[in-house]
Amino acid sequence: MRLHCEVEVLSRHLPVLGVKNRGRGVRAVVSLCQQPRGTELRPGPSGHACLLVSTMKDKRGTRYELRENIEHLFTKFVDEGKATVRLKEPPVDICLSKANSGSLKGFLSAVRLAHRGCAVNTPLSTLTPVKTSEFENFKTKMVITSKKDYPLRKNFPYSLEHLQASYCGLIRVDMRVLCLKNLKKLDLSHNHLKKLPVTIGDLVYLQELNLSDNHLESFGVSLCQSTLQKSLRSLDLSKNKIKALPVQFCQLQELMNLNLDDNELIQFPFKIGQLTNLRFLSAARNKLLNLPCEFKHLSLEYLDLFGNTFEQPKILPIIKLQVPLSLLESSVQTILNNRIPYGPQIIPFHLCQDLDTAKTCVCGRFCVDSFIQGTTTMNLHSVAHTVVLVDNMGGTEAPIISYFCSLTCYVNFSDTLK
Ligand SMILES: [Zn+2]
Repeated sequence: MRLHCEVEVLSRHLPVLGVKNRGRGVRAVVSLCQQPRGTELRPGPSGHACLLVSTMKDKRGTRYELRENIEHLFTKFVDEGKATVRLKEPPVDICLSKANSGSLKGFLSAVRLAHRGCAVNTPLSTLTPVKTSEFENFKTKMVITSKKDYPLRKNFPYSLEHLQASYCGLIRVDMRVLCLKNLKKLDLSHNHLKKLPVTIGDLVYLQELNLSDNHLESFGVSLCQSTLQKSLRSLDLSKNKIKALPVQFCQLQELMNLNLDDNELIQFPFKIGQLTNLRFLSAARNKLLNLPCEFKHLSLEYLDLFGNTFEQPKILPIIKLQVPLSLLESSVQTILNNRIPYGPQIIPFHLCQDLDTAKTCVCGRFCVDSFIQGTTTMNLHSVAHTVVLVDNMGGTEAPIISYFCSLTCYVNFSDTLK
């Protein structure tokens, strides 16, 4: 029985001697081995199991007695692939990390049995040196660029941090890929993906996701509300068929780099200004008609909106003021302007949606159905250092929508409109 993981063996005497631990593990193969008769580390009934820790430098491995020798098993983070075996003799902590959590659980229960001196009911390994090829399971990067190289029978090494599988004709995301919990970069560009599984959101370390040149029509709400909110920095959705992104997309707060080139976007999610970390935004060759009011809050290094079908700013504003305000409008404004917390557990879901999609007036107050809408043009240089020309005429201006909660606001701020 073998476990591939990273191991650090810490002596509990070291801190006393003033020696510091390095604090990181080395790649290792940890085996539960049968001790041949006469070679036991300690005298006792023969045939009980021991732990063998082998590394690239020490392929023969170091052997540790297990029977009645475990002081404690630390398993709080076993779901993250981490555990520590504290031995009585020698006084060491064997810290296991980056293991497949399923295999680790099985391994630890076998270790427990060996400690009690019970027969372990899985086949034990022999005390032979570990082959170099076994360490290949620690591969962190794998690049596949053709269908014939895509592994069908063999599993992906669980330790992968960077996986590229392009030009493989994939029509859905392989479930085996979604089990690679250490992934930081996932490149599935140039395939035929139509939908993304929600479980991509379970890849807690995922920083870069490239889905360029697929058949995607959306980027789901549940993905926007997954752990990707905390990890995702770079997202490439270029060359797909995306018509709209959900408003929750703007909760992907860590995004720095967003490529939406060559899609069918009519508008940006209107809360785009919440993406405060965004530095590179490209949405060339879409069908954008105008920019949402919050676009002004972005602070970019690079912006490319070339080849969109921006409309001419309308001279006449759209007036939708309600007099008097409806009960809904009045309540929504009160809730938002006073920052009263709300959620689907307190009020109906559709009301939450109304609240989530409220518009912000230039004065900072909120409105839903009662507003004046005006279009103005903005120079894109006001939000980005480098701006790619919007059209072939050399322009860097684009229409942007503004909302006004009252006639007073409209009159006071109308000089910002053309
Ligand atoms: Zn106002």
